[in-house]
Amino acid sequence: MTNNTYKEIALKLHGYDKVLIFPHVNMDGDCLGSSAALCHALRGFGKEAYVLADDVTPRNLDFLESGVVTRDYDVFDEYDLAILVDCGSKSRIGERAAVFDRARENAVIDHHGVSENDTEFNFGIIEPSSAATAELIYLIASEMGAEVTLRIAQCIFAAISTDTGSFQHSNTTARTHKIVSEIYEVPGFDGNKIAQLLYNRKSLGAIQLEGRVISEMETFSGGRIIMSAVTQAHLIETGTLMNESDGIIQKLMSIDGVEIACVLKETDDKTVRASLRAKSYANVARVAKSFGGGGHIRAAGLTFEGTICEAKAEIAKALEAELVRSNDEK
Ligand code: 5GP
Ligand code: MN
Ligand code: MN
Repeated sequence: MTNNTYKEIALKLHGYDKVLIFPHVNMDGDCLGSSAALCHALRGFGKEAYVLADDVTPRNLDFLESGVVTRDYDVFDEYDLAILVDCGSKSRIGERAAVFDRARENAVIDHHGVSENDTEFNFGIIEPSSAATAELIYLIASEMGAEVTLRIAQCIFAAISTDTGSFQHSNTTARTHKIVSEIYEVPGFDGNKIAQLLYNRKSLGAIQLEGRVISEMETFSGGRIIMSAVTQAHLIETGTLMNESDGIIQKLMSIDGVEIACVLKETDDKTVRASLRAKSYANVARVAKSFGGGGHIRAAGLTFEGTICEAKAEIAKALEAELVRSNDEK
């Protein structure tokens, strides 16, 4: 697929009445905020639109889903347009792919690497230089002539704030700040309120979980790689859900001298999810891809079939090799 311009996408979107929007599995702030913002914008033009999800919404993102998220696969029998948001492959929407395929036409709006795009779309845009998919949604909605309501502003801000690590990650650009400055002009918008909702509503158990997982961290390559694991036992002990562990990797990254952080998440006794982050030069997407996963150069993820012990050994080895390789490429 060749990229359409924001204007072309805006014009095309005006031509559909029933639309379903698909965020990726393991919902994060960008995919949910972007999907919800797009849904509100389409409804503003009188269209029937829903965000089809099947994950449990992480508790810090609950305020984004009101009124737009459905988990009913049959919300439409037949519909006009399916839009994949914040991912470029149907493999990233799990069982909802069957519903995606029922649409008359389909589209993609994403900011991951084009190499992950293995699905045929009628139109769309994949722009890896965009800090968040929400930047693209904002620009497309503007081209549509959509009114940026308070709701839309909150969704876009939450998406950009989470995907840039509060404007700290290397993906943050002047455009990111320009869009956010426009968001601050929307009547009633309160950035501090959204930051409190996103970052300061953790459960006591989540903090206990963070403490436990961080205290068990292991270092490799002389402290430049750091790894820790969240097991099912940890979740039971602290009364938490796996999605409450999402902030741990950021804490590991904050250690001086760390280039790569990895958090392993034990899904069950034979499946592990791994989150990978790099600080300034390592390419963790390359490692994720070598295990069948993907993501951005400095933030990627993968699913590993095996035990935590096996995942730890194999992924640590691959990360050590990546560190050598990315050092050589510097
Ligand atoms: P996280 O560690 O937050 O789950 O994911 C970091 C980044 O990598 C996100 O942009 C996410 O979309 C991407 N990612 C995570 N897991 C996978 C995966 O299994 N496959 C692909 N293609 N991308 C992933
Ligand atoms: Mn995402
Ligand atoms: Mn994103």
